[in-house]
Amino acid sequence: MALTESGLYQPDLADLKTAEESEIKDVLNVCPFSGEGANEDSIGFRLFGGIQHDTRLGYYREIYQASVTDDSMRLQASSGGIITWVLKSLLKSGKADYVVHVKNAPRETGKLFYYGISRTTEEIVVGGKSKYYPIELSEVLREVERLPGRGVFVGLPCFIKGARRLCELRPEFAKKFPYFIGLVCGHLKSTGFAESLAQQMGLNPSELVDVDFRVKLMDRPADRYGFSASTPMRSNARPMSELVGGNWGLNLFRNPACDLCDDVFAECADLVVGDAWLPGAVKDPRGTSVVVSRRKDLSEILGKGLEDGQLSLEELSLEMAANSQQGGLRDRREGLRYRLYLRRKNGEWSPEKRVEPSKNHLSSSRRKLYRHRIRMMKDSLRFWALAKRTNDFESFWKRIERLQIINSCLYRRIPLRWLAWIKYTLAARASKKNAQTKK
Ligand SMILES: Cc1cc2nc3c(=O)[nH]c(=O)nc-3n(C[C@H](O)[C@H](O)[C@H](O)COP(=O)(O)OP(=O)(O)OC[C@H]3O[C@@H](n4cnc5c(N)ncnc54)[C@H](O)[C@@H]3O)c2cc1C
Repeated sequence: MALTESGLYQPDLADLKTAEESEIKDVLNVCPFSGEGANEDSIGFRLFGGIQHDTRLGYYREIYQASVTDDSMRLQASSGGIITWVLKSLLKSGKADYVVHVKNAPRETGKLFYYGISRTTEEIVVGGKSKYYPIELSEVLREVERLPGRGVFVGLPCFIKGARRLCELRPEFAKKFPYFIGLVCGHLKSTGFAESLAQQMGLNPSELVDVDFRVKLMDRPADRYGFSASTPMRSNARPMSELVGGNWGLNLFRNPACDLCDDVFAECADLVVGDAWLPGAVKDPRGTSVVVSRRKDLSEILGKGLEDGQLSLEELSLEMAANSQQGGLRDRREGLRYRLYLRRKNGEWSPEKRVEPSKNHLSSSRRKLYRHRIRMMKDSLRFWALAKRTNDFESFWKRIERLQIINSCLYRRIPLRWLAWIKYTLAARASKKNAQTKK
């Protein structure tokens, strides 16, 4: 896997040129976006077939709203700290020997984050929080191949799907990973996301050494979190809502593969955790998690945490859990159907998904909005690479500002011709004022 100029990991296919047909088939059977091999429904059925199923959440046993009671651990985590707590419990009880998750990268690598291995509770706590940053699995899996013992695999839905498919192909990996813990996912970002947020705060994006995407701000609700970044010389922090790109609906720096995803709740994971974006929970700035358990033993571990006073745990209805991810689900269902339709119409390849390509389920204004969001994704990736090459960030932000205004008009159904009229009136007013000043 290699980082492209757009700040995304892509497979280097050179080796495949000399590969046997069976080897290529294996690669396609592991890659989560190849369109070949088992999908989330069939993997989920094989793993959790006896329990209840919902088309939005996948298989589920218990659903909770939860958080850890230890505030220092909670503040080191993205939402309620549940993933960190479960990882610690599994290690402490000897059910796992190590954790494979996303950690801060050593400075000499030139990366901010990487998939690494943690063996101690301290490493697990430090490795907490969401990393909206490209990562890849090939190196850590090579390391796991050599490691004795059993591990917990933590990942976004597509990484869990890929890892499960690898376990089916190479059963020795299934023995190595008795637990898979998923993160609910809206979409993954390119390196440009962290870089552009830092650049807006006056930091040089090429010099970043540290980034925190989820700084908890104690005077605001949980969804109003902050962003902090450091270069060797300076550090800065701001509420995410004050930075362009903090609004996920804009799709800035979105990984294009996410346009072809239909899995929000990591349907192949044993346990999945997301942010409780729900009216009551969101008020607590310390953060609260939505948890979907697909395994009895993991539900029991959580229940024991409640008994011991280490967790606050309330049952949540299926509808509430789905409501906490309304935007993501809409994008992965109605949005995906339309994107598949567009790709088919334009003669572009797309994998088989669990929804059918269509345009008729959407109004024409909604279609325009989805088309515009594809443009925002593509333009932000392309023009950020150009801005870094030419050191011209001003042109980049002007372009993004224009795209943002169009997005707001499309979202609020304000006709774009009004925009032209507003611009014309403002320009006319400005030139009249200029003329008067000259007089
Ligand atoms: C790219 C991305 C998109 C997300 N989108 C949504 C969303 O739309 N809605 C929503 O509710 N939640 C989303 N989440 C999940 C959410 O941000 C929290 O991670 C989740 O609530 C778990 O919180 P926690 O406090 O239990 O986790 P913590 O205790 O903070 O632990 C998080 C664990 O996840 C690991 N981790 C962090 N980033 C990654 C990564 N990129 N890949 C693999 N492992 C990682 C860490 O190493 C750590 O072990 C997203 C997360 C990411 C990384």
